[in-house]
Amino acid sequence: KETLLQVRNLTVTYHTRLGPVSAVSDVSFDVYRGEILGLVGESGCGKSTMGKALMRLIAPPGEISEGQIILSGEDILKYDENQLREMRGAHVSMIFQDPMTSLNPVQRIDQHGIEAIQVHEPKTKIEQALERVSKLFERLGIQKRRLTDYPHQLSGGMRQRVMIGLGLALNADLIIADEASTSLDVIVEAKLADQLREIRDEFGVTLMVITHNIALVAELADRIAVMYAGRMVELGDVYEVFDNPLHPYTQGLLASVPNIILNEREELYKMPGEPPNLTHPPSGCRFHPRCPKAMDICSRYQPSFEEVTPGRFVHCWLYQDHPEKETPTLKVAA
Ligand code: SF4
Ligand code: MG
Repeated sequence: KETLLQVRNLTVTYHTRLGPVSAVSDVSFDVYRGEILGLVGESGCGKSTMGKALMRLIAPPGEISEGQIILSGEDILKYDENQLREMRGAHVSMIFQDPMTSLNPVQRIDQHGIEAIQVHEPKTKIEQALERVSKLFERLGIQKRRLTDYPHQLSGGMRQRVMIGLGLALNADLIIADEASTSLDVIVEAKLADQLREIRDEFGVTLMVITHNIALVAELADRIAVMYAGRMVELGDVYEVFDNPLHPYTQGLLASVPNIILNEREELYKMPGEPPNLTHPPSGCRFHPRCPKAMDICSRYQPSFEEVTPGRFVHCWLYQDHPEKETPTLKVAA
């Protein structure tokens, strides 16, 4: 597996009137080339901030206060404005929650494509650029006659596909989709999941999908990363995590998702409590006030994000030793 992106000890701090708030706190993980990584968690967990940080789109009063983001061997935190402009689009593109806000309302779809290509490749002629985008858009299910439409004439799903097409037209290595399916219904979602997987297979692009929709991640992703209160708490192969979630937060999160396939009628688990206010996060493990398995040590020390079985990372004292831990370490089921 080739590593495309390495995130190390990333911390994003917002300077508010109530004091500094770390929306992302000491997060480390890798993204492999060609994979689909689903990043999940409740709203406010830091997943959208993470996406913006990867694009270097954190603006004051926020800042990336610590860490490294290494894309294809280069630390993008050291990039100047010119390098960033080159990076955004040609290497990393982002599809936001509502693509309406990223598309120019007075520009036709074909013009978006031509302009995107010409900004990064000034030597490409209009006809060549047009041919490239229309092929890609067609591949994404946007017919030729729609190319002369304006963004508002397309459905939400189509606008998202336009954004994906723009990223692909530039041969972006990494496409980050933030809550790409918020407004879509389940059937459209399943179709989108299929299309995204096909696109990945065909173009070899790497996708990071940021969403609160666990069912979509189950269909779409190769690996899942779970965030809670600014920290990444679990990361691993999507089948393994769904089959055997290790972090108590992941366990609660999965138990609270309706199982559409089995059409289970049992009452869903409701996690007690609320996510913490990050101006005064809980000490130690930030999940301890809500955790059914909390031990004495959990409120006193912060666990590390450790690889407990190959490829599975967990931020939890249940799987780590500490001299002051009274309960024996749980064995991880093989
Ligand atoms: Fe629960 Fe402790 Fe693990 Fe936190 S570290 S998730 S409180 S068991
Ligand atoms: Mg969000």
